[in-house]
Amino acid sequence: MPIDATSGYDHNNIFARILRGEIPTKTVYEDEHALAFHDINPAAPVHILVIPKGRYVSWDDFSRNGSDQEISGFVRAVGHVAREAGLAQPGYRLLANTGHDGGQEVPHLHVHILAGRRLGAMLSR
Ligand code: AMP
Repeated sequence: MPIDATSGYDHNNIFARILRGEIPTKTVYEDEHALAFHDINPAAPVHILVIPKGRYVSWDDFSRNGSDQEISGFVRAVGHVAREAGLAQPGYRLLANTGHDGGQEVPHLHVHILAGRRLGAMLSR
């Protein structure tokens, strides 16, 4: 069920619970700004999610309300995770589903890193 990207933060959403250590993940990277872990239902051979540590519902919320430090820290973390996974040369796709029409299901900002094969056309029609 897609979420409303402009709604208030739900402290019990699944990624909030992951950040609190209540739900285990296959973590690939963590720093003060971001946590990266493997998607539980991979859509590509490599499918990593990167989430900010701050409580941001969506890209809309983060780009509006995140501090410059949080935003730069998060963007650098996404790049770092992709590089460390060996994806810079073969390439990869970043995806941040946002709100209802974007198909966002979890109301805590996450960027998908998708890779490991030619990913083909961007949108299914
Ligand atoms: P989105 O549709 O952009 O909101 O994507 C949410 C993603 O979170 C999906 O790709 C799910 O497979 C993934 N997901 C949901 N729960 C977990 C979990 N516990 N651990 C890892 N990934 C998850």
